[in-house]
Amino acid sequence: MEIWKKYGEKEVSHSMAHYLQTVALLKAEKGHARVGDIAEHLGVSKSGVTSMLRSLERRGLVRHERYGCVELTDEGSGFASRTESSRIVLSMFLTEILGIPEEMATEDACMIEHLVSPEVSVELLRLTTFVRSRHPAAVQFRDAYRLSPRTCAEHAPGACDMCGSTCLRDSLVTPIGRAPVRG
Ligand SMILES: [Zn+2]
Ligand SMILES: [Zn+2]
Repeated sequence: MEIWKKYGEKEVSHSMAHYLQTVALLKAEKGHARVGDIAEHLGVSKSGVTSMLRSLERRGLVRHERYGCVELTDEGSGFASRTESSRIVLSMFLTEILGIPEEMATEDACMIEHLVSPEVSVELLRLTTFVRSRHPAAVQFRDAYRLSPRTCAEHAPGACDMCGSTCLRDSLVTPIGRAPVRG
């Protein structure tokens, strides 16, 4: 099966991931998660919460118990903590290794926290931990990397030494909706 189709089958949407994290947070802070508290925390209506809870319940991620309290199933709780850990790892990687400003890093980490596979997160954590360590190779790497030129910054259109005939960087920095400028 094609990758994007396979992914669609197990998809938990971005908002679902945030609902699960909110339930986990409220449980940890208050000992219980009620529909009203979830609505307040996420800035959505109670009816919005109720309908989202129904679809999370169908997927076996939450249980909606008596007195309007919501419980995470084992799977839901695992997903919530994995998503949160992924976000922390991604933020660390983006700010400390790539030097992305905090605000942008937080935004990007939030967008992909629920999509990144555990295998990739674990390796990003390993890389981040190593690169910021006191290991002599890590110290040397950090110094050299800080001074290294921006890849692909200078080249004739359509002739990048690094990327081949189509420069990846050029296409990444071209605003969407406008055709790249050809010289
Ligand atoms: Zn998010
Ligand atoms: Zn390039």
